[in-house]
Amino acid sequence: MRDVKRLSIQDRLGLNVFELDKEAHITVDNELCRDCQLKPCLHSCPAKLYEFEEEVHFNYEGCLECGTCFIVCHQMGNKGVNWSYPRGGFGVYYRYG
Ligand code: SF4
Ligand code: SF4
Repeated sequence: MRDVKRLSIQDRLGLNVFELDKEAHITVDNELCRDCQLKPCLHSCPAKLYEFEEEVHFNYEGCLECGTCFIVCHQMGNKGVNWSYPRGGFGVYYRYG
């Protein structure tokens, strides 16, 4: 029987390739974030691209384009996320699953 190595989520994410656009496809409006009680973006991004240190910091590099942050922000947060897909030719290329 073939020996199959189980990869962790981090290992799998590390196999993705990103064609980085200099224009951010997702931005965050910290004026709106300030009044956001739950800040669900901090706990729902699978790539952990949202952080909080005095204000919300977001880095679009490594975005998996799943749309989770947009949904939780607009359903449970204060609608501070402006979301779009990257321009054509840019963004994530999935190479595993
Ligand atoms: S959920 Fe939206 S409004 Fe709330 S902190 Fe995150 S980005 Fe800002
Ligand atoms: S689209 Fe998905 S991976 Fe990208 S920032 Fe939002 S939650 Fe994170």
